[in-house]
Amino acid sequence: MSNSIKAAMQNFAVSQALKYIEGNPEENIPKLMELVDKYTPEDWYSSQRNAIREAIEEKSNWYQLILRLYELAPGVRKAFFQNFLFNASLKGGAIQEEAKEKYGCNIPWAILLDPTSACNLCCTGCWAAEYGNKLNLSLEDINSIVRQGKELGTYMYIYTGGEPLVRKKDIIKLCEMHPDCEFLAFTNGTLIDEEFCHEMLRVKNFVPAISLEGFEKANDSRRGQGIYQKVQDAMARMKAHKLPFGVSTCYTNRNVEDVSSEKYFDLMIDSGALFVWFFHYMPVGNDAALELLPTPEQREEMYHRIRAFRQTKAIFSIDFQNDA
Ligand code: SF4
Repeated sequence: MSNSIKAAMQNFAVSQALKYIEGNPEENIPKLMELVDKYTPEDWYSSQRNAIREAIEEKSNWYQLILRLYELAPGVRKAFFQNFLFNASLKGGAIQEEAKEKYGCNIPWAILLDPTSACNLCCTGCWAAEYGNKLNLSLEDINSIVRQGKELGTYMYIYTGGEPLVRKKDIIKLCEMHPDCEFLAFTNGTLIDEEFCHEMLRVKNFVPAISLEGFEKANDSRRGQGIYQKVQDAMARMKAHKLPFGVSTCYTNRNVEDVSSEKYFDLMIDSGALFVWFFHYMPVGNDAALELLPTPEQREEMYHRIRAFRQTKAIFSIDFQNDA
């Protein structure tokens, strides 16, 4: 089959699929799966596809999570589907394969970058305060990285830091410059105000992963007084605007009980988070707080609890150190 026919078929399939992500999810989710089966090779993500099919049949927690995606603002949901599922995975995957052959090296599915080392907080054990606000990537440099990445088939960009949202205006500008990419940022969440929510709704392709480290006492003991409430306010704002977001949780030997509890998972889901990314505390620098390191037993317990909640809770849980 020629490349142009293949591309035309793919475009047709995507335009059909975009119709199915609107309207009644109970009717359209099975149709969406039929379309995926028809237009993608059988061995592509076959285990994930089987798992989704099972989830639909059993109406499991994963199915509940898919239903939650249908609650997002329509334009944002469409951009997420187009950029994250189609551009970053199917279309990007094919370009990456070609680039891999051509250059003889691996091409990443996502590119991580730090727009700035600056941060408006000063959490215990974090290196950001030591670096201050001296290290910044210019808008032009970030734009160039994304342009070059897209040529190689990479459509997913993840900002870390520092606090990426101290560069709010540039972050939004980059979303506008590359509407075919999905941008995710690990953020402390304190700079997500009403105006920024409107900007996210306007550009549609930005997803925050907000740091939360348990309930108020545990969270604020490392991140600062009042930060828990600011994060709750930011999540409530995004939920009200039907914006997608997740949580990023660093676990230490002090908060591990909190963040591995059912109550914590329910809190994240009720707050509107679609995913949670767990990391264990990693000390950096000469003055790092070694006493916060989780013990081997705590890490093992965390490993099992995350996997147990994956079977029951309507939130996508990623175990950074162990899933890789
Ligand atoms: S918010 Fe993040 S980058 Fe800023 S001090 Fe805290 S841990 Fe470090």
